[in-house]
Amino acid sequence: MIDSHAHIHDRAFDDDRAEVVARAREAGITQIVTVGCDLADSRRALDAAHAYGVYASVGIHPHEAQDAPDDLAAAFAPFLADPRVLAIGETGLDYYYDHSPRDAQRRVLRAQLAIARERATPVIFHQRDAYDDFLAILREEWRPGMRGVIHCFTGDAQQAQTYVNEFGMLLGIGGVLTFKSAEGLREAVRAVGLQPLILETDCPYLTPVPHRGKRNEPAYVALAARKLADVLGVTPDEVVQTTDANARMFFSLP
Ligand SMILES: [Zn+2]
Repeated sequence: MIDSHAHIHDRAFDDDRAEVVARAREAGITQIVTVGCDLADSRRALDAAHAYGVYASVGIHPHEAQDAPDDLAAAFAPFLADPRVLAIGETGLDYYYDHSPRDAQRRVLRAQLAIARERATPVIFHQRDAYDDFLAILREEWRPGMRGVIHCFTGDAQQAQTYVNEFGMLLGIGGVLTFKSAEGLREAVRAVGLQPLILETDCPYLTPVPHRGKRNEPAYVALAARKLADVLGVTPDEVVQTTDANARMFFSLP
C-alpha cells in the first residue's frame, strides 16, 4: 500500500517520526508521500523524505496563497530537480476557511497548474467549498495528459464522475470513508468504482474509525483500504492492487 498523502514532517510527529515510519512499513505501507503546504513546509517535507526514505511534494496550499512568491516557477525549480519530489501540491481552493483572499487562491492555483503543465508533473489538489470556481479554472488550465488527484475527496457522485470522466483524475480516499456521517462519500465511491481511486491518510489529520480523536499516521491507511473493500464489495487484495497500481502510475514510481 502507498500512503499518497501524508504530512509526516508535521510537528505532530517530532517526538517519534522514526517509529511512525517503522510502524507504517510493518503495516505494509511501501511508500509515503509527505505533502508540502508552502515553501518552508515543502522544505521540511523534502528533508524528511531524505531522512526517512519517503517521497515529498512541493506546493502552496490555498490557505497560504497570499504569501506565495511572485515567481513560483523559480521558487519550485530546486525542489522539482530533486528526485524525491514527485508532485506539485497541495494546491487548490478553500472557501470554507478563506485563510487567503479568494483572488490570491485562484492566482496561485493557476500558477501551479502552469508549472505542472510545463513540467508534466502530477498535481495534488485540495478543494473545499469552492467546487464551481475550481471546475472553471480546471476547464481553462487543464490539458490532456496532465495528471491530478483530488486529495481527500468528499464530494458527491456527480462531482466524482466529473473529475474522473472529464479530467481523468484520481480521487484520494482516506479516513473520512470510515466516518458514520460519510454516507454521501460512500455513494460517490460506489458511483465511480475502484478504478480511479488511491489511498491516503492526510495524517496527522482525519483519523479513521476506531482511532478517531487521536493522531492519524500512515499505518492507518490499511483501515481505509479495508473500509473501501467493504463499501465496494470487493476483496481487500483487489483494493490494494488497484490503488497501488494507480499511485505508481500517477507518481511515476517503479
Ligand atoms: Zn493534506
